[in-house]
Amino acid sequence: MNKLSIRDLDLKGKRTFIRVDFNVPLDEEGRITDETRIQASLPTLNYAIQNQSRVILASHLGRPKGKVNAKLSLKPVAEALARALNRKVILAPDCVGQIVRSQTRSLKDGDVLLLENLRFHSQEEANEPEFSRQLAALADLYVNDAFGTAHRAHASTVGMVSYMDRAAAGLLMEKELTYLEKAISNPDRPYVAILGGAKVSDKIEIIENLLKLVDVLLIGGGMAYTFLQAEEFEVGKSLVEVEKIPLAESLLRRARELEVKLLLPVDHVVANKVDATAETKTTSIQETPIEWMGVDIGPETIARFKNHIASAKTILWNGPLGVFEIDQFAAGTMAIARAIAESPATSIIGGGDSIAAVIKAGVADKIDHISTGGGASLEFLSGLKLPGVEALNNK
Ligand code: AMP
Repeated sequence: MNKLSIRDLDLKGKRTFIRVDFNVPLDEEGRITDETRIQASLPTLNYAIQNQSRVILASHLGRPKGKVNAKLSLKPVAEALARALNRKVILAPDCVGQIVRSQTRSLKDGDVLLLENLRFHSQEEANEPEFSRQLAALADLYVNDAFGTAHRAHASTVGMVSYMDRAAAGLLMEKELTYLEKAISNPDRPYVAILGGAKVSDKIEIIENLLKLVDVLLIGGGMAYTFLQAEEFEVGKSLVEVEKIPLAESLLRRARELEVKLLLPVDHVVANKVDATAETKTTSIQETPIEWMGVDIGPETIARFKNHIASAKTILWNGPLGVFEIDQFAAGTMAIARAIAESPATSIIGGGDSIAAVIKAGVADKIDHISTGGGASLEFLSGLKLPGVEALNNK
């Protein structure tokens, strides 16, 4: 990684603004249902505390759309973080303003102050200069550990950085960049990418770029059907983006030119509707009933995909291979999750659904790198520069 790391900074006695990703899921009562993101920030926070920094944390939570919304306060996060760090976490009443400024000034070495939700101010997402300047005025040093928002140019990820002397990556950001940079610059081969999910249109750019990088591309999930239609298979009522068929054709052609093995499903589970009470059957792709839709990859496809996964040296997975939220349609996604875990390859997973799948399959600890940023990791892997990363100082 060519960016400055928090490890390159002299933190002692300095007010360090750390942009974290505490955008945790909350239930109806405002309780946190999954603390993964808080846990993921702990290495950086403990590092800053141990090095006697004065820690100022900032995050967004949900979509308050520029208005104060008590339901999206970071209060439950402050409580969970205090438990996780086993120390006091002070919650500021806002993220800018006179009170917050004086709170930052009275911090002692090792203290932790959590600013209130950045997105209570519309200026955050608007990347407004005056708001950026106010955030920057709170601290001496800047650290970005929120990889999940690094693809957005907001005040706390980009705007304020120009007002700071030193801007570095946190340990989580550094880990993300190290794994993802290796995946695009110098992967061990064979390199197998597995893409699923609903839409081809969301992932076109990444497919084009991945074709230049990978040896094998396995495509499943809803997006496979636009490709299957491009190959003139009858896909019944399966999800097809008709306007993307020509593009799917050109990607298939491109794969052949580049000698990338691009595998589509050869069989699938079809259902007469998409819910838990649906009638289902397993058919080859050639025998898809016209009134039914494909909801999961079939056993022959799973076997073929698993063969490639078993002999891979690098694996990248983004997107479920079926409508895995419904148990009857989750077998393909679960089988692929387990196969990736069993493979000796370096495995990288991104996207909320794929993460949920490895957790559900009980194999999350066997994945080398679970990216905390679905959108950010896809953008990065498709060769785009992430504004939140570009803004940081080079080493
Ligand atoms: P994405 O956000 O594009 O990664 O898509 C994730 C969604 O794709 C999940 O909610 C899955 O239920 C859905 N999905 C996966 N396979 C299929 C399929 N064969 N048909 C329709 N939706 C699917």
